[in-house]
Amino acid sequence: MLITCPYCGPRDLAEFSYQGDANRTRPDPASTDPEAWNAYVYDRANTAGDHREYWQHSGGCRVHLAVTRNTLTHEIKDVALARDGAVKKPSARRKTGAKA
Ligand SMILES: [Zn+2]
Repeated sequence: MLITCPYCGPRDLAEFSYQGDANRTRPDPASTDPEAWNAYVYDRANTAGDHREYWQHSGGCRVHLAVTRNTLTHEIKDVALARDGAVKKPSARRKTGAKA
């Protein structure tokens, strides 16, 4: 299985680490509802089909990705940067310290 890293290009699965389900919504940190936290920590959908997951390119540039993978065929349908949900090229990143 190949995952196309936005920075490094297509790479083998061995270079990536699975980081978990990207569909879960974290409860409000101030919440003391044990059922909401229990569901967040332990409940998982066992999806047969397209599933949104977090992966890290741990053997490469170490970027965190949001990957849509079909759990039946392992086809990768979408890859985006996890932080903003969209692919941005490194040259498009904002430079810091530059004078305007
Ligand atoms: Zn990479």
